[in-house]
Amino acid sequence: MSHHDERTFVMAKPDAVQRGLVGEIVSRLEDRGLKLVGAKFMQIDEDLAHEHYGEHEGKPFFDGLVEFITSGPVMAMVWEGADATRQVRQMMGATDPAEAAPGTIRGDYGLDLGHNVIHGSDNEDPGANEREIELFFDDEELVEYDRADAEWVYEDT
Ligand code: GDP
Ligand code: MG
Repeated sequence: MSHHDERTFVMAKPDAVQRGLVGEIVSRLEDRGLKLVGAKFMQIDEDLAHEHYGEHEGKPFFDGLVEFITSGPVMAMVWEGADATRQVRQMMGATDPAEAAPGTIRGDYGLDLGHNVIHGSDNEDPGANEREIELFFDDEELVEYDRADAEWVYEDT
């Protein structure tokens, strides 16, 4: 494993799908040099929603969150790259789009905390990325390959 093999779980939420922002999200991550290693267009059921957002169970917004995330299709993805989890979180911006900096995905495409376009694994919760990847993907659904431009993205390949 080289240092650019970190994987993180990313999801274009139902609002992103309905608003036609999936391509934009994929584009931004691709342009950054991150590598797409898995993708699944799917609808999340109640059980998966509860597992994925288990840490928020009991909070006042939990029921609304589950209702929203199961309300339509999502694009679940795994992206790989140097410091991928933290880099994606930075590109997402603050949880509340109203507070997210312009230039971030939430800051450019959202206005409402409940509809904030994108999910990315929490970089401050160690192992969250691996847990979420496992929850959504089987090993054989993740693809190993080299991006043709990797030697231009990274100094040391
Ligand atoms: P994230 O890691 O930045 O997505 O934020 P959290 O893990 O704290 O929360 C998970 C998701 O729950 C957020 O992305 C929001 O969609 C939703 N959420 C968090 N806090 C609130 C809240 O106070 N109100 C509402 N309506 N939704 C919230
Ligand atoms: Mg979170």
